[in-house]
Amino acid sequence: MDEQLRLLIALQELDSTIISTKLKIGSMPAKVSSIENSIKGIQEAHERAKQQHVSLDKKRRDKESAAADIEGRIKKLKERTSEIKTNKEYQAHLKEIEKADKELRATEDNLLSIMDLLERTTKALKTEEDVIAEEKAKKDAIKREIDKDALRHEAELKRLKEDRKKLSEKIEVDIYDQYMVILNTGRGIAVTEAKKEICQGCNLHIPPQLFVEVKGNNKIIHCPHCKRILYYVRSESP
Ligand SMILES: [Zn+2]
Repeated sequence: MDEQLRLLIALQELDSTIISTKLKIGSMPAKVSSIENSIKGIQEAHERAKQQHVSLDKKRRDKESAAADIEGRIKKLKERTSEIKTNKEYQAHLKEIEKADKELRATEDNLLSIMDLLERTTKALKTEEDVIAEEKAKKDAIKREIDKDALRHEAELKRLKEDRKKLSEKIEVDIYDQYMVILNTGRGIAVTEAKKEICQGCNLHIPPQLFVEVKGNNKIIHCPHCKRILYYVRSESP
């Protein structure tokens, strides 16, 4: 095989690996943020539940002080009983006490149901916290793996670039420049295999006479359609 063609094939292999490594590195931030987003939903729901819990607790305190107020009122009413002179006044007084008692019972019932709800939400919040902590630990482990992968890919990219520099220095300047132009126009593929008279870069037919020349692998031949540099792989099986 022509030495320059052999070098170009090797360069293409390196460039393809460099491109895919760069793509892997580029996809890392999206991976990390999708992991972060997946836990965000649960965390936000939990925050809302916490807020509801806080306002429910405030309601409990309000009810408690309302109950205390009514109790105070009843106490005062009862203290005033001895001051009452007429039966009519007494009847009215009793009615007032009865009304306040009713109000107190209703407030206490209300308070009980609030406390019951508070107890349940406290338990639910705790369960949610446990779930979030567990999810977070899982996600953190995945993120650490991604970070490790990123470092590995960066190191690999550095090594690939060094190899590429060494290799490209062995290629004649004109040929290298040509390669670079085709690499850019050919979406990352400048050198490609010709198989059964078909260019594997553009999938178009290669004229038989040209294909015979390509099969020789002893000079640089371009695809007549996409201009990519062609080579031929002799199959092992007969
Ligand atoms: Zn082609």
